[in-house]
Amino acid sequence: MENININRDKRLFLCLMLIIVIAISMITFTLFFIIRNSGINLYKIIIKTIILLTIIIIVFLLFLSYLLARLINNKKVPNIFITFLERSVKLIYPVMIFLSSLVNIDKDSIRRVFSQINNKIVILKEPKLNPEDILVIAPHCLQKSFCKHKITGNIDNCHKCGACDISDLIDVCNKYNVKLEIVTGGTLARRLIKDYKPRGIIAIACERDLSSGILDVKKVPVIAITNERPEGPCKNTCVNTRNVEDSIKLFMRRL
Ligand code: SF4
Repeated sequence: MENININRDKRLFLCLMLIIVIAISMITFTLFFIIRNSGINLYKIIIKTIILLTIIIIVFLLFLSYLLARLINNKKVPNIFITFLERSVKLIYPVMIFLSSLVNIDKDSIRRVFSQINNKIVILKEPKLNPEDILVIAPHCLQKSFCKHKITGNIDNCHKCGACDISDLIDVCNKYNVKLEIVTGGTLARRLIKDYKPRGIIAIACERDLSSGILDVKKVPVIAITNERPEGPCKNTCVNTRNVEDSIKLFMRRL
């Protein structure tokens, strides 16, 4: 079973932001010392412009870190900054993933916090949805590997034996009259989204698939729920159906 500590993940995420700020600050100071010792005017103008740009980036990153720290610690963030936060986080996320491999930080920690930030932004931003606007997408690895019933494409084929979480997932979705689809991967998920045209998606998957899904599906808000993997990746995974139910209620503004 993976050891997930979301508070540690949050600290790692903010530390990485700080590392980026420190790295850019060091570049700025280096450039500053170069122009102090340089006598060529054109050279000075170019470097001054670069310094100005890096200062703007540092201020942007510090402000973004401040807003993110508030958001992930459940503190109020003014509504006018929500869109700024959403776009900035998606912009900085690839840099953080690149940096996490450089400094040997578990990428899934960064992905988990990214998904969590995304979920909070979706809840703050989106209007109330009706059940028919919501699509729940779950991976087929939730199904027990010994189960012979083909549930991708037709969830009604599940015999609801209760051996895996699919059974409870069907009950939760039926309770709220929300569409549930089991997918084998991103291609099928994208096709379903295109066909079904939901206004809100609840996606269950591993950290990597959730993050790429959030970045892929640009126009539809996605609430991301990480699956649990007691037997390792892609086999007999589980999901906390309570989280799925809460997400449906959040979209429907019943929570
Ligand atoms: S609940 Fe039972 S029948 Fe349904 S998918 Fe899981 S193992 Fe198969």
